[in-house]
Amino acid sequence: MRLVLRFIKTYLTPYVWWFLGGAVALVLTNAMTVAIPGYLGEAIDALGQPDAVEVVLRNAGIIAFIGVLIVVIRTLSRVLFFTPGRLVEARVKRDVFERILLQQPAFLRSYPAGDLYSRVSNDVNALRLLAGFGLLSVINVASVLGLTLVQMLRLSPWLTLYMVIPLAIGLGLTQVTIRWLFILIKRMNEEISQLSDYALSTYEGIATVKAFAAEPVFEERFDELNRAYQRTTIQRAALRALISPILTIAGLVNVFLLLWIGGRFVIEGAVTAGDLVAFVSLVAILAGPLRGLSFIIAIVKQAQASLERIYEITDPDIERPDLPEPVGVPSAPPRIELRDLRFTYPDAPEPALAGVSVDVPAGGTLGVFGPTGAGKTTLLRCLTRLYNPPPGTVFIEGRDVRALDLDAWRAQAVLVPQRAFLFSESLRDNILLGSDDGEALERALDLAALRVDVDALPAGVETQVGESGLMLSGGQRQRSALARGLIREPTVLLLDDVLSAVDHGTEAELIASMRQQGGLSPTTVIVANRISALQHADVILVLRGGVVVDRGTHEELIARPGLYRDTWDKQREGEDAA
Ligand code: ADP
Repeated sequence: MRLVLRFIKTYLTPYVWWFLGGAVALVLTNAMTVAIPGYLGEAIDALGQPDAVEVVLRNAGIIAFIGVLIVVIRTLSRVLFFTPGRLVEARVKRDVFERILLQQPAFLRSYPAGDLYSRVSNDVNALRLLAGFGLLSVINVASVLGLTLVQMLRLSPWLTLYMVIPLAIGLGLTQVTIRWLFILIKRMNEEISQLSDYALSTYEGIATVKAFAAEPVFEERFDELNRAYQRTTIQRAALRALISPILTIAGLVNVFLLLWIGGRFVIEGAVTAGDLVAFVSLVAILAGPLRGLSFIIAIVKQAQASLERIYEITDPDIERPDLPEPVGVPSAPPRIELRDLRFTYPDAPEPALAGVSVDVPAGGTLGVFGPTGAGKTTLLRCLTRLYNPPPGTVFIEGRDVRALDLDAWRAQAVLVPQRAFLFSESLRDNILLGSDDGEALERALDLAALRVDVDALPAGVETQVGESGLMLSGGQRQRSALARGLIREPTVLLLDDVLSAVDHGTEAELIASMRQQGGLSPTTVIVANRISALQHADVILVLRGGVVVDRGTHEELIARPGLYRDTWDKQREGEDAA
C-alpha cells in the first residue's frame, strides 16, 4: 500500500482538479440514481389514490429527466477520470525510460531487454488502469454505498441491518481469495517478462537460428514459456470467476431476506408497499458496484505488483556518488593522473586492474598495450566513469573524477569503443547523434578519413546504415564511430582499439589528423594491439593481468626485450611479407 500511496503522491496530485471534478460528477450521478427509487415508491403508493394518474405521470417524467441527466454527467465523469489516466501513463513511461538511460552497465546487464520492455508496457498499463478506472471505481463504489445506505436507513433501519450482514460476510470471503490472486498476478508479470525477452532475443539472433536450422528448439522453448504463462492466466481467471459470484450470491440472499422479512413488515404496516419496492430497487443499485469491488481489488493488487516492478528499475541509485556539489569540468585538455588504480567488477573474483599509476600531461598521449583481458578497456571505462573507479584513484586536472559533474564530463571525454553501436538510421544521424551542425559533420568526415567511403555510398551521408550498421564494413563502422566522437571536439579522447579494422595507410593518416584537430589537441589515451598505432604516444603502458609490466616510449620499449618488442618484430615481419 505504501507504494500505491507514493505513486498517488508523485503522479496523481498534479491532476487533482481533474479527479475532483470527476468525483463531483460521479457523486452527482449516483445521488440522482439513488433518488429514482423514491419517486418509484411514491408512484406505487399513490396507485390507490384519486390523483394516481397525475402522480404517476409526473414521477415518470421526473425519472426520465433524471435518466437523461445521468447519461450526460456520467459520461463527463469518465472523461475527467480517464484523461489523466492516459497522461499519467505517458509520464511514467517517460520517467522510466529516462532512468533506464542513466543506469550503469552493471544494472543494465541484470535486466534483459524483454524484461524492461514488459515493465514499460504491461506494468505501466496496470498503473493507467489504477489512475483511471481504478480511482473512478473506488469513488463510485464509496458514493453508491454511502448514498444507498443513507436512503435505506431512512426507509427502515432494521431492514438495512438485515441487508448489511450477508454483504459483510461476502466481502470477508472475497478478501481471503484476494491473497491468492496477488500471488498469481506477480507470477504472471514475471512470466510475461520472460516470454517477451525470449521472443526479443530470438528475433535479434534470427540469422543464427536460421543458419543452424534451430527453429524447432526455439519454438519448443517458446511453447514452454508460453504455456506457463497461459496456465497462470487461466488460474487467475478461475479465481476471479470464483470471487465475483460470492458477492452476487450475497445480493440474492438479500432479495430473499427482503421478501421474507420486508414482506412481513409491510403486512404489519411498519413500512408501505412503495417503501419495499424502493428498497428492492436500492439493493439492485447496490449490486453492480459491489460486484465491481472485486475488480477494484484486482486492479489495486495488480498495480501494487506493477509498482514494485517499476520502482525496482527507477529506484536503484544510478551510481552518481558525487560530492554534494559536483565540480565543474575543465574546459581545456586536462592533465590525467592515475594513482594506484585498482578495480574489480561487481561479482568478479579477480581484479581487472591491480594498481595502475601514470601521469599524462595536458594534451599528451598515453598508449596502452597488452594481451586480451589485460584490463585495457576497463581502464578506459574507469576514466569515463562507465564504471566508477574507487575514490582517490583517477584525477582530472587534480580533481577526483568522481567529483565531476557526470554529464559535463561525458560531454568532454569521448570514448570511442572497439565495437561501436550504430542505430538503424542514416549515417548522418548516427554521427551527429542529435546535434544539427552540418559544418561540424563535414569536418568530422574528413578527420575520420570517411570522405571517400561516404561518396561511394548510394545516398552519401543520408544512406540508411541498416540494423546495427549492416550496410558498412567493419572499418567503416569504426571510423563512423570515430567521427561521432570527434564531432564533439572532445578535450579528452579515449580510443579503444578503434583502428584495428583500418589499413595501415589510413591508420597513419587518422592518427596524424586526430593529433591536431583544429589546432587544439585533446589529451588522448589510445588502446591498441597494433604497435604502429602507439608509436607516437608520449608514454606507453604495457599491461598484463591488470598490472603494468613495462612502461616507456616506443623507442625505449623496442630497445629492450619483452612482450612489446616481440609483438613489434612480429607485426613488422607480417607487414614486410604483405
Ligand atoms: P582488455 O580490454 O585488455 O581485453 P578488459 O578490460 O576488457 O581487458 O578485461 C579485463 C578483465 O576484466 C578480464 O578478465 C575480463 O574478463 C574482465 N571483465 C571485463 N568486463 C567485465 C565485466 N563487465 N564484468 C566482469 N568482468 C569483466
